Amino acid sequence: MTPIIIPIFLPYLGCRECCIFCNQKATATEIPSPSSVRSFIEASLIDLPSGKKNREIQVAFYGGSFTAIHREEQTRYLKVIQPFLASGLIDSIRISTRPDALDEEILSLLKEYGVKTVELGTQSMIDEVLLLAKRGHRVEDTISAVLRLKRLCFEVGIQLMIGLPGDTFDRFLKTLDQIIDLKPGFVRIHPTLVLKGAPLENLWWTGRYSPLLLDEAIQWLKRGLLKLERASIPVARIGLQPTKDLERNFLAGPYHPALHQLIDSAIFFDMAKHLLQISPNGSRAFFHCHPKEVSNLRGQRNGNILKLKDQFQLGEIIVQSSKDVPRGSLILQSPEGEVSIHRKSLGF
Ligand code: SF4
Repeated sequence: MTPIIIPIFLPYLGCRECCIFCNQKATATEIPSPSSVRSFIEASLIDLPSGKKNREIQVAFYGGSFTAIHREEQTRYLKVIQPFLASGLIDSIRISTRPDALDEEILSLLKEYGVKTVELGTQSMIDEVLLLAKRGHRVEDTISAVLRLKRLCFEVGIQLMIGLPGDTFDRFLKTLDQIIDLKPGFVRIHPTLVLKGAPLENLWWTGRYSPLLLDEAIQWLKRGLLKLERASIPVARIGLQPTKDLERNFLAGPYHPALHQLIDSAIFFDMAKHLLQISPNGSRAFFHCHPKEVSNLRGQRNGNILKLKDQFQLGEIIVQSSKDVPRGSLILQSPEGEVSIHRKSLGF
């Protein structure tokens, strides 16, 4: 079960230079002091819905490069959490940081203060993409960081981006292959967006950068998601969390508040198409899927059904849900019997 996260944002804290896609410097709100972090956690714990209190509760330091902050400041933030850990009100700590800011001394500090999860801003496993994004670290830093974190039994999360300058679909697939070899605990993937105040904004206005189109991003992420699923690596999130701040600053790029659902719908469309190709049904098709996946099969505004009707000249498509159908599977009933497919066995 995924933990409940109490997020503490430390905008731009510990960052050496501004990554090309980041606007935290431009929109940075006030950095919370360690004492205000304490009050925020207390208030968040009171607000937790009672039904969620049996889940793991994690305090997460996001928004900067935690382990690149001055050592004394890191310690001050980590110390604030200790009484909550000791009393059992908080179960663990998560931090987000850059891969080249994790020397042995820092790793010992994180262990000592009960940090469980470390999310690495990896973005790409192609050095040229990292260079163009002004990340200031290289692929070898990520490899070394993941190996050392895993040796010390930290849970490792990898944050990736698609569509950065210099990125291509092949480069994204190569990035995923390398990440899969490292076997992280989970992955997040965000399409690159052009945000007000980020250095990328100027490149975009002057025609030197074009973000991916939404359809392109869906095609990339569809392949990526299935690759990770086949390797049994959980995907914690696809696409940035829709927030008022994001919507206010968004200029261009493949943003959609329900991006993960669009990708799942694209996967179900391919599954349905495959079944109709191997088992033509005349003018009527009868699908069975799990109740939680009816909307994936239908697509937004019934878009998948309309496209399938059109492509296969079907007069009617019936969708029946059943809890007996495993999640991720689709069954097509035909006069000769049933044919089925699981999303992981899609042929790409
Ligand atoms: S993306 Fe992360 S590391 Fe880069 S400037 Fe923004 S907060 Fe700092």
